[in-house]
Amino acid sequence: MPTTALWISLLGMCLIVAVRYLAVSGLFAWSSRVVRPDVYAPKDPKKAVRLAKQIRREIGWSLLAAIIYGLPAGLAAHLWATRGWTRIYADVSDYPLWWLPVSLFLYLAIHDSWFYWTHRAMHHWPWLFRKAHAVHHESRPPTAWAAMAFHPWEAVSAAWLIPALTFLIPIHIVPLALVLTIMTFFGVTNHMGWEIFPKRWVDGWFGRHVISASHHHVHHERYLSNYGLYFRFWDKLCGTDKGLSDELIRAKAKREPQLQ
Ligand SMILES: [Zn+2]
Ligand SMILES: [Zn+2]
Repeated sequence: MPTTALWISLLGMCLIVAVRYLAVSGLFAWSSRVVRPDVYAPKDPKKAVRLAKQIRREIGWSLLAAIIYGLPAGLAAHLWATRGWTRIYADVSDYPLWWLPVSLFLYLAIHDSWFYWTHRAMHHWPWLFRKAHAVHHESRPPTAWAAMAFHPWEAVSAAWLIPALTFLIPIHIVPLALVLTIMTFFGVTNHMGWEIFPKRWVDGWFGRHVISASHHHVHHERYLSNYGLYFRFWDKLCGTDKGLSDELIRAKAKREPQLQ
């Protein structure tokens, strides 16, 4: 029987993931009304009704996914706090300092690889797409609220990964918090329909290697390309990288004429 402490940890983590989603998606959806009023605040009443319905659906799926993400995270947190079972450490001198950035990168690279291949598999087999991934592609275009809009099967395929890694690869609590922050930030900003990074970043080294909205937007338009999560590495290596969205880059250039 789960103990009271375990229940608190499981429910607490579900609540944290849900509140984090509502706060971050809410903040970016609110600020997106200024940049993309056509998407976030349409004047046409019919469009506005359709958008409200879409956002309700995105929030519903996301809150369900938040519970699925919260459970393995809550279990790992409980085992760390009560038995010291994970390899999360709090004393920075436990491992060399260079391990801090290396562990951060390792977690992101493993997460990115897992996401790329499971995501590609879901697009490869139509039955799997219909069962697990169609929900994520229901909104065209998605909004910032779609950050966690996954069918429970898709959420299950990904939710256990970071908690499992904490049992295998040592990580200090600060890089771990950074992994979770990066995951949340990119999950939201990649779906909000406009590019948040400066155009010169997107055109430069950063944009060639790191995935932002300009890259993921192409995935939501064309489906069979741009599968990655954080890095363009796998997409480029496997020939599935179809570049960045002209629409988002043009919109960005209009907003930053002084930087041209
Ligand atoms: Zn997406
Ligand atoms: Zn997809």
